[in-house]
Amino acid sequence: MQQLTQQVEQCFRLAESYFKQSFQRPELVLSSRKSKVAGSANLSQWRLRFNAHFYQQQPEHFLAQTVPHEVAHLVCHAVYGRVKPHGVEWQQIMQQVFNCPATTTHSYSIEYLQLPSVEYYCACQTHQLSIRRHNNVQRGASYQCKRCKQQLRLCTIINSDNSGR
Ligand SMILES: [Zn+2]
Ligand SMILES: [Zn+2]
Repeated sequence: MQQLTQQVEQCFRLAESYFKQSFQRPELVLSSRKSKVAGSANLSQWRLRFNAHFYQQQPEHFLAQTVPHEVAHLVCHAVYGRVKPHGVEWQQIMQQVFNCPATTTHSYSIEYLQLPSVEYYCACQTHQLSIRRHNNVQRGASYQCKRCKQQLRLCTIINSDNSGR
């Protein structure tokens, strides 16, 4: 937590010297709640929440990427007000103030979440669809059973995928 606090402070100092104004320091929360999100910035509460699992997984990367990403959201809000979350203002802060790539996705492993797969059925059997495929179906894609050629339909049961990967 100490390193995290220091890195947040470091980011704010960079922003302060760049914008020549001072910023209020946020409340920091290191959360071990299971989530796919590496960090989040709450603008109205002025709070940064960081994912403890991902921090432990790759602490250096986390400090170098995720912390500036979230601090940039607060700085962006303080300087520019209501703008797009990952718009040009935010990107400018990432690149010019923090000297970081302005990426919006992370590459931490989410296997620890043991994401559920979703059960589908056809005429001949049940199928375990990955969350990615299930999301595709939600967006209008359809999958066929290779054996009976019937379109897969969603079962209501959601299983935990504990296959030990
Ligand atoms: Zn973001
Ligand atoms: Zn089938």
